[in-house]
Amino acid sequence: MTQFWLGLLAGIGIAYVAYRSQALNQSGGLAAGLLGTVVFGLGGVGWAAVLLTFFISSSFLSKLFKQRKAQVGQNFAKGSRRDAGQVAANGAFSGLMALFYFFTAQTGFGQGWQPVLWVGFAASLAAANADTWATELGVLNPRRPILLKDLRRVPQGTSGAVSLVGSLAALAGAGLVAGMAVLSNLAGWTPAGTPSPGRQFLVIVAGGVLGSFIDSFLGATIQAVYYCPNCQKETERYPIHICGTKTKLKRGLPWLNNDWVNTACTFSAGIIGLLLAGLF
Ligand SMILES: [Zn+2]
Repeated sequence: MTQFWLGLLAGIGIAYVAYRSQALNQSGGLAAGLLGTVVFGLGGVGWAAVLLTFFISSSFLSKLFKQRKAQVGQNFAKGSRRDAGQVAANGAFSGLMALFYFFTAQTGFGQGWQPVLWVGFAASLAAANADTWATELGVLNPRRPILLKDLRRVPQGTSGAVSLVGSLAALAGAGLVAGMAVLSNLAGWTPAGTPSPGRQFLVIVAGGVLGSFIDSFLGATIQAVYYCPNCQKETERYPIHICGTKTKLKRGLPWLNNDWVNTACTFSAGIIGLLLAGLF
Protein backbone atom coordinates (compact mmCIF):
# COMPACT_ATOMS: atom_id res chain seq x y z
CA MET A 1 0.00 0.00 0.00
CA THR A 2 2.88 2.36 0.81
CA GLN A 3 4.18 1.78 -2.70
CA PHE A 4 0.86 2.84 -4.18
CA TRP A 5 0.93 6.18 -2.35
CA LEU A 6 4.58 6.69 -3.33
CA GLY A 7 3.48 5.95 -6.91
CA LEU A 8 0.71 8.50 -6.70
CA LEU A 9 3.16 11.06 -5.33
CA ALA A 10 5.63 10.30 -8.15
CA GLY A 11 2.81 10.48 -10.71
CA ILE A 12 1.80 13.93 -9.51
CA GLY A 13 5.46 14.98 -9.56
CA ILE A 14 5.91 13.77 -13.15
CA ALA A 15 2.73 15.50 -14.29
CA TYR A 16 3.73 18.76 -12.64
CA VAL A 17 7.32 18.83 -14.00
CA ALA A 18 6.17 17.81 -17.50
CA TYR A 19 3.49 20.47 -17.56
CA ARG A 20 5.72 23.23 -16.22
CA SER A 21 8.57 22.39 -18.62
CA GLN A 22 6.01 22.52 -21.45
CA ALA A 23 6.68 18.93 -22.54
CA LEU A 24 2.96 18.17 -22.07
CA ASN A 25 -0.24 20.18 -22.15
CA GLN A 26 -2.89 19.88 -19.43
CA SER A 27 -4.56 16.67 -20.67
CA GLY A 28 -1.11 15.18 -21.38
CA GLY A 29 0.02 16.03 -17.85
CA LEU A 30 -3.01 14.29 -16.35
CA ALA A 31 -2.50 11.20 -18.53
CA ALA A 32 1.22 11.05 -17.67
CA GLY A 33 0.39 11.41 -13.97
CA LEU A 34 -2.06 8.51 -14.19
CA LEU A 35 0.45 6.38 -16.12
CA GLY A 36 3.23 7.18 -13.63
CA THR A 37 0.96 6.26 -10.70
CA VAL A 38 0.00 2.92 -12.28
CA VAL A 39 3.54 1.99 -13.36
CA PHE A 40 5.31 3.04 -10.15
CA GLY A 41 2.47 2.24 -7.73
CA LEU A 42 1.56 -1.19 -9.16
CA GLY A 43 4.87 -2.22 -10.79
CA GLY A 44 7.58 -0.75 -8.57
CA VAL A 45 10.90 1.08 -8.72
CA GLY A 46 12.35 -0.89 -11.66
CA TRP A 47 9.25 -0.25 -13.76
CA ALA A 48 9.32 3.44 -12.86
CA ALA A 49 13.03 3.68 -13.80
CA VAL A 50 12.31 2.36 -17.31
CA LEU A 51 9.29 4.64 -17.80
CA LEU A 52 11.29 7.66 -16.61
CA THR A 53 14.16 6.81 -18.97
CA PHE A 54 11.73 7.03 -21.89
CA PHE A 55 9.99 10.07 -20.54
CA ILE A 56 13.07 12.14 -19.64
CA SER A 57 15.21 11.28 -22.68
CA SER A 58 12.42 11.86 -25.21
CA SER A 59 11.29 15.13 -23.58
CA PHE A 60 14.90 16.31 -23.47
CA LEU A 61 15.42 15.61 -27.19
CA SER A 62 12.09 17.23 -28.10
CA LYS A 63 13.12 20.37 -26.26
CA LEU A 64 16.63 20.35 -27.72
CA PHE A 65 15.33 20.31 -31.30
CA LYS A 66 12.34 22.54 -30.78
CA GLN A 67 13.69 25.37 -32.90
CA ARG A 68 14.91 23.19 -35.70
CA LYS A 69 11.59 21.39 -35.75
CA ALA A 70 9.67 24.66 -35.95
CA GLN A 71 10.84 24.92 -39.57
CA VAL A 72 9.31 21.59 -40.51
CA GLY A 73 6.71 21.82 -37.75
CA GLN A 74 3.86 22.59 -40.08
CA ASN A 75 4.07 19.02 -41.33
CA PHE A 76 3.20 17.67 -37.90
CA ALA A 77 -0.38 17.41 -36.75
CA LYS A 78 0.20 18.73 -33.26
CA GLY A 79 2.42 21.22 -31.50
CA SER A 80 5.45 20.27 -29.43
CA ARG A 81 3.42 19.85 -26.23
CA ARG A 82 2.10 16.32 -26.02
CA ASP A 83 -1.55 15.73 -25.20
CA ALA A 84 -3.36 12.79 -23.55
CA GLY A 85 -3.79 11.00 -26.90
CA GLN A 86 -0.03 11.01 -27.48
CA VAL A 87 0.73 9.89 -23.92
CA ALA A 88 -1.79 7.03 -24.25
CA ALA A 89 -0.40 6.00 -27.65
CA ASN A 90 3.09 5.76 -26.15
CA GLY A 91 2.26 4.47 -22.68
CA ALA A 92 -1.03 2.51 -22.65
CA PHE A 93 0.60 -0.87 -23.31
CA SER A 94 3.21 -0.36 -20.58
CA GLY A 95 0.45 0.63 -18.13
CA LEU A 96 -1.49 -2.53 -19.01
CA MET A 97 1.59 -4.67 -18.34
CA ALA A 98 2.06 -3.08 -14.88
CA LEU A 99 -1.65 -3.69 -14.20
CA PHE A 100 -1.41 -7.37 -15.19
CA TYR A 101 1.75 -7.75 -13.13
CA PHE A 102 0.00 -6.31 -10.08
CA PHE A 103 -2.90 -8.69 -10.65
CA THR A 104 -0.60 -11.75 -10.74
CA ALA A 105 1.28 -10.55 -7.64
CA GLN A 106 -1.95 -10.02 -5.67
CA THR A 107 -3.84 -13.14 -6.72
CA GLY A 108 -0.98 -15.55 -7.39
CA PHE A 109 -2.74 -16.39 -10.63
CA GLY A 110 -0.38 -16.53 -13.63
CA GLN A 111 2.68 -15.69 -11.51
CA GLY A 112 4.90 -17.52 -13.98
CA TRP A 113 4.13 -14.81 -16.51
CA GLN A 114 5.70 -12.01 -14.49
CA PRO A 115 9.10 -12.06 -16.24
CA VAL A 116 7.34 -12.09 -19.63
CA LEU A 117 5.14 -9.12 -18.66
CA TRP A 118 8.27 -7.25 -17.61
CA VAL A 119 9.96 -7.78 -20.99
CA GLY A 120 6.76 -6.80 -22.89
CA PHE A 121 6.53 -3.67 -20.76
CA ALA A 122 10.12 -2.62 -21.51
CA ALA A 123 9.86 -3.52 -25.22
CA SER A 124 6.82 -1.28 -25.74
CA LEU A 125 8.61 1.66 -24.09
CA ALA A 126 11.75 0.87 -26.12
CA ALA A 127 9.60 1.28 -29.25
CA ALA A 128 8.11 4.55 -27.98
CA ASN A 129 11.63 5.83 -27.31
CA ALA A 130 12.98 4.54 -30.65
CA ASP A 131 10.19 6.33 -32.48
CA THR A 132 10.66 9.60 -30.61
CA TRP A 133 14.45 9.59 -31.01
CA ALA A 134 14.13 8.77 -34.72
CA THR A 135 11.69 11.63 -35.21
CA GLU A 136 13.76 14.14 -33.25
CA LEU A 137 17.24 13.18 -34.49
CA GLY A 138 16.20 12.13 -38.01
CA VAL A 139 16.13 15.80 -39.04
CA LEU A 140 19.94 15.82 -38.68
CA ASN A 141 20.26 13.46 -41.66
CA PRO A 142 22.17 15.36 -44.38
CA ARG A 143 19.90 14.08 -47.16
CA ARG A 144 16.13 14.01 -47.33
CA PRO A 145 14.50 10.82 -45.94
CA ILE A 146 13.10 7.98 -48.06
CA LEU A 147 9.52 6.71 -48.09
CA LEU A 148 9.64 2.91 -47.61
CA LYS A 149 6.63 2.34 -49.87
CA ASP A 150 8.18 3.47 -53.16
CA LEU A 151 11.71 4.51 -52.08
CA ARG A 152 11.21 8.11 -53.17
CA ARG A 153 12.89 10.99 -51.32
CA VAL A 154 10.37 13.13 -49.44
CA PRO A 155 10.51 16.32 -47.34
CA GLN A 156 11.70 16.05 -43.72
CA GLY A 157 8.92 15.38 -41.24
CA THR A 158 6.89 13.26 -43.67
CA SER A 159 5.09 10.38 -41.92
CA GLY A 160 6.73 7.03 -42.53
CA ALA A 161 9.92 8.45 -44.03
CA VAL A 162 13.17 6.81 -42.91
CA SER A 163 16.82 7.88 -42.96
CA LEU A 164 20.16 6.45 -41.81
CA VAL A 165 20.51 8.93 -38.92
CA GLY A 166 16.88 8.32 -37.91
CA SER A 167 17.34 4.55 -37.93
CA LEU A 168 20.53 4.75 -35.85
CA ALA A 169 18.69 7.07 -33.45
CA ALA A 170 15.88 4.50 -33.17
CA LEU A 171 18.44 1.82 -32.31
CA ALA A 172 20.06 4.05 -29.67
CA GLY A 173 16.70 5.07 -28.19
CA ALA A 174 15.61 1.43 -27.85
CA GLY A 175 19.07 0.54 -26.50
CA LEU A 176 18.89 3.14 -23.74
CA VAL A 177 15.54 1.81 -22.49
CA ALA A 178 16.78 -1.79 -22.74
CA GLY A 179 19.94 -0.79 -20.83
CA MET A 180 17.89 0.70 -18.02
CA ALA A 181 15.72 -2.44 -17.92
CA VAL A 182 18.85 -4.58 -17.52
CA LEU A 183 20.24 -2.26 -14.80
CA SER A 184 16.92 -2.48 -12.93
CA ASN A 185 17.10 -6.24 -13.28
CA LEU A 186 20.66 -6.36 -11.92
CA ALA A 187 19.57 -4.12 -9.03
CA GLY A 188 16.92 -6.69 -8.13
CA TRP A 189 13.98 -4.40 -8.90
CA THR A 190 12.28 -6.71 -11.39
CA PRO A 191 10.21 -9.92 -11.13
CA ALA A 192 12.19 -13.08 -10.35
CA GLY A 193 13.03 -15.36 -13.27
CA THR A 194 13.56 -12.74 -15.99
CA PRO A 195 15.81 -13.78 -18.92
CA SER A 196 19.59 -13.26 -18.57
CA PRO A 197 20.72 -9.61 -18.96
CA GLY A 198 22.15 -10.17 -22.46
CA ARG A 199 19.08 -11.97 -23.75
CA GLN A 200 16.77 -9.44 -22.09
CA PHE A 201 18.65 -6.57 -23.73
CA LEU A 202 18.45 -8.16 -27.20
CA VAL A 203 14.74 -9.00 -26.95
CA ILE A 204 13.81 -5.50 -25.73
CA VAL A 205 15.90 -3.80 -28.44
CA ALA A 206 14.49 -6.14 -31.12
CA GLY A 207 10.91 -5.41 -30.02
CA GLY A 208 11.60 -1.67 -29.95
CA VAL A 209 13.26 -1.49 -33.36
CA LEU A 210 10.67 -3.76 -35.04
CA GLY A 211 7.89 -1.66 -33.51
CA SER A 212 9.35 1.55 -34.88
CA PHE A 213 9.77 -0.13 -38.28
CA ILE A 214 6.06 -1.03 -38.23
CA ASP A 215 5.41 2.60 -37.30
CA SER A 216 7.29 3.82 -40.39
CA PHE A 217 5.58 1.27 -42.61
CA LEU A 218 2.06 2.23 -41.46
CA GLY A 219 3.01 5.91 -41.65
CA ALA A 220 3.99 5.47 -45.30
CA THR A 221 0.99 3.37 -46.31
CA ILE A 222 -2.31 3.78 -44.48
CA GLN A 223 -1.80 6.79 -42.16
CA ALA A 224 -4.00 9.74 -43.13
CA VAL A 225 -2.08 12.42 -45.02
CA TYR A 226 -3.82 15.67 -45.86
CA TYR A 227 -3.03 18.34 -48.42
CA CYS A 228 -3.30 22.11 -48.13
CA PRO A 229 -4.37 23.56 -51.50
CA ASN A 230 -3.26 27.03 -50.40
CA CYS A 231 0.32 26.17 -49.37
CA GLN A 232 0.48 23.23 -51.81
CA LYS A 233 1.96 21.07 -49.06
CA GLU A 234 1.31 17.69 -47.48
CA THR A 235 0.32 17.92 -43.83
CA GLU A 236 -1.09 15.85 -40.96
CA ARG A 237 -3.24 18.75 -39.89
CA TYR A 238 -6.97 18.28 -40.18
CA PRO A 239 -9.44 19.89 -40.73
CA ILE A 240 -7.65 23.29 -40.86
CA HIS A 241 -4.03 23.94 -41.91
CA ILE A 242 -1.89 26.48 -39.98
CA CYS A 243 -2.64 29.01 -42.76
CA GLY A 244 -6.37 28.69 -42.04
CA THR A 245 -7.27 26.79 -45.22
CA LYS A 246 -9.29 23.55 -45.09
CA THR A 247 -7.12 20.51 -45.81
CA LYS A 248 -8.12 17.63 -48.08
CA LEU A 249 -7.40 13.92 -47.64
CA LYS A 250 -4.59 12.96 -50.00
CA ARG A 251 -4.00 9.32 -49.06
CA GLY A 252 -4.53 6.84 -46.24
CA LEU A 253 -7.51 6.11 -44.00
CA PRO A 254 -9.11 9.37 -42.79
CA TRP A 255 -9.37 8.26 -39.13
CA LEU A 256 -5.89 6.71 -38.92
CA ASN A 257 -3.88 9.58 -37.43
CA ASN A 258 -0.39 9.60 -35.93
CA ASP A 259 -1.69 8.59 -32.47
CA TRP A 260 -3.13 5.35 -33.89
CA VAL A 261 0.11 4.62 -35.73
CA ASN A 262 2.07 5.18 -32.51
CA THR A 263 -0.36 2.94 -30.66
CA ALA A 264 0.24 0.21 -33.25
CA CYS A 265 4.00 0.77 -32.79
CA THR A 266 4.03 0.35 -29.00
CA PHE A 267 1.49 -2.50 -28.93
CA SER A 268 3.23 -4.52 -31.65
CA ALA A 269 6.61 -4.00 -29.94
CA GLY A 270 5.15 -5.08 -26.61
CA ILE A 271 3.56 -8.17 -28.14
CA ILE A 272 6.84 -9.06 -29.91
CA GLY A 273 8.57 -8.70 -26.52
CA LEU A 274 5.96 -10.93 -24.85
CA LEU A 275 6.28 -13.58 -27.57
CA LEU A 276 10.09 -13.61 -27.65
CA ALA A 277 10.36 -13.71 -23.85
CA GLY A 278 7.64 -16.35 -23.63
CA LEU A 279 9.12 -18.58 -26.31
CA PHE A 280 12.79 -18.44 -25.27
ZN1 LIG B 1 -1.82 25.96 -45.76
